[in-house]
Amino acid sequence: MTRVDSLRALMDERGVEAMLIHKAENRRHLTGFTGSAGFALITARDALLLVDFRYVEQAGAEAPGFEVIRADRQFIDTLAEVVAVRGLSRIGFESDGLSYQQYDEFGRRLAPATLVPVDAVDRLRWVKDRDEIDRITRAVEIADRAFAHVRGMLRPGVVEREIALEMEFFMRRHGAEKEAFETIVASGPRSALPHGRAAGRTLQAGDFVTLDFGAVVAGYVSDCTRTVVLTEASAKHEEIYGIVLRAQQEALAGIKPGMTGREADAVARAVIADAGYGEAFGHGLGHGVGLAVHEGPTLSPREEATLAPGMVVTVEPGIYLPGWGGVRIEDLVVITPDGCRSLTRAPKELLVLS
Ligand code: ZN
Ligand code: ZN
Repeated sequence: MTRVDSLRALMDERGVEAMLIHKAENRRHLTGFTGSAGFALITARDALLLVDFRYVEQAGAEAPGFEVIRADRQFIDTLAEVVAVRGLSRIGFESDGLSYQQYDEFGRRLAPATLVPVDAVDRLRWVKDRDEIDRITRAVEIADRAFAHVRGMLRPGVVEREIALEMEFFMRRHGAEKEAFETIVASGPRSALPHGRAAGRTLQAGDFVTLDFGAVVAGYVSDCTRTVVLTEASAKHEEIYGIVLRAQQEALAGIKPGMTGREADAVARAVIADAGYGEAFGHGLGHGVGLAVHEGPTLSPREEATLAPGMVVTVEPGIYLPGWGGVRIEDLVVITPDGCRSLTRAPKELLVLS
């Protein structure tokens, strides 16, 4: 089935005649169009892509399966015409895609057609095809090389922000379109902040330093975290790091298709809880990755969705001890028919750098 066929199957299931697609990742996934604005409208017969003047030529080249319609005024003016001409009455929209203002205006302008919220369009992106896995793999490789490159910089006296800047520069110079997200470099007590942005702190001996980074290649992202210790590892550094590493390795060995996201999360969570640090692992084990850095399915105590071959998810347990520091180790894996395969190659043994 093509991606549009999959959407049409969802439309049948939800009882809508047409589906209006606005979210950037879904628009790109379904149409191939990479521009920053536009609406796709898909019916049982038609696949339309409404773009403004800036994007007409690009949309024609990138979305060959779609009829490109130039919206000369507001998108809603063109949409209202298209809907009226086709006599559509029930139009699905991404319930997390329109602003309240758009929902209100579109509802009035498209009447008597009704707008029906559909919440599962993102799920069409969960299982990746070979081309998508290939793009993600290339993004992982660039990030792995960036980590190897900055390892030599990680020593007392260097400022966090300098490290983040060097990683971004390296990734872009080696083929990334851009960073997947703002690189996290969190050192010393700041490593207890799961999402501590790189700031002005100077690295010191005895610090844990957590780096969380990723690259974008052909629209697809990677996401990796490594934690190193500077100068020398205390018994406590080794204890905490060892627990997180064991939790991650058990998860990598245990995750397989047919498990729910909750069950996958529980594999790592049990290791950390048994070691007495359950309260210090306050986030989920992982999340899907693709066109977006955070997409479904999640690996978390709340996720009932089931893992399937071709899904790409992170496996990133952590322990965070306020005022002292923290450790997170994050790999990106593909779910395979009988388990999962890590794409990340960056080393995971505790690196003591000076
Ligand atoms: Zn990350
Ligand atoms: Zn992540």
